[in-house]
Amino acid sequence: MYLTEEEQKRYRRQIIIPSIGEEGQLKLKKSVVFIAGVGGLGSVSAYYLTAAGVGKIIMVDRDSVDFGNLNRQILHWTDDIGKKKVYSAKEKLLKLNPNVNIEVLEADIRQENIISLLGDSQIIVDALDNIEGRRILNKASVERGIPYVFGGVDGLSGMVTVFDPSETACFECVFPRAFRKTEEIGVIGPTPGIIASIQAMETIKIILGMEGTLKNRLLFFSGLDMNFREIKLEKNPECGVCGKRWEKKWERYT
Ligand SMILES: [Zn+2]
Repeated sequence: MYLTEEEQKRYRRQIIIPSIGEEGQLKLKKSVVFIAGVGGLGSVSAYYLTAAGVGKIIMVDRDSVDFGNLNRQILHWTDDIGKKKVYSAKEKLLKLNPNVNIEVLEADIRQENIISLLGDSQIIVDALDNIEGRRILNKASVERGIPYVFGGVDGLSGMVTVFDPSETACFECVFPRAFRKTEEIGVIGPTPGIIASIQAMETIKIILGMEGTLKNRLLFFSGLDMNFREIKLEKNPECGVCGKRWEKKWERYT
C-alpha cells in the first residue's frame, strides 16, 4: 500500500508531524474503525477520523434524523430530516474524503449481532447514549481483544477513557452498577464536540502506537467551570466481564 499524490497533499499537515510521518499515515490508511452510533458523538469522531484518512470506517445506527438532533449532531442538516442517520452521515463523509471506505449498517447493536457488525474492525469507538449498548460494546472489546474508546456526555459535562482488554480496566470494572437513565438527557452541542474530538485523537494515537493515551485514566470534562479532572482506573479482578475467572469462558469464543 502507498499514498497517492492527492493523499500526500491532503494529509500534508499531519504527515509533517514527526510522530506520524508517511509511515503513520499508511497505518491510518490500513486501519478499520468501528463507530457505534451516528449522533452527537459519532458525527464528530467520524468527521475527524474521515478527515485524517482512516482506511475504513464501519458505522452503525438505526435512527432517522429529526429536528431535535440538529443542535449537536453536526453530520445531519435540516434537509436530512427523516433520512436514516447512517446515509446522511455517509453522504457528508464521502464529500469530505472520498478516499475513505465508509461502510454503514442500519441496525440495532445487540449481543447477538455485535461480532458480525464489527467485521474486521480494530478499534471500537463508543458514540452511544445508553448503558445497555455500552455493555455490549465492552463485552465485544474483551472477547475480540480490541480497544474500546469510551465517551459519554450529559449537559455541559462529559467523560472519556480508553479500555484496552489486554492492559486496562474494562467498562464493567468501572461502572458495574450503571443503569439506564429514564429521563431524557440534555446536551449542548460543544459537549459531544469536545468529548468526541478526544475520542478521535485517542483512536488515531492507538492506531499509530503512540504513548500517552487515556488507558487506565478516566478524564472528566466540566463545561460549567471549564476544567478537566482525571481519576486512575484499576482492573477489578472479580469483574464479571474481564476478571480472571472469566478468561476461560471467553477463550471458548475466540
Ligand atoms: Zn472488567
